[in-house]
Amino acid sequence: MKCIKCGETMKSADLQSAISGTIFVAKKGGGDILDPTRQSTIDCFVCPLCGYIELYARNPKKFR
Ligand SMILES: [Zn+2]
Repeated sequence: MKCIKCGETMKSADLQSAISGTIFVAKKGGGDILDPTRQSTIDCFVCPLCGYIELYARNPKKFR
């Protein structure tokens, strides 16, 4: 994957938090935000040249 800002090859990285364990993205709307049918873990890519970061939901179909 190429960086959209500078064209450098991006590197896969871990998205981490010092506060909690896994960071995830959850579908908006009512219900339990921790419902696994409404959330996805996140893939993170970092450009080692300019520092640009891209985030991807690993299970985007949960947001349909
Ligand atoms: Zn870049």
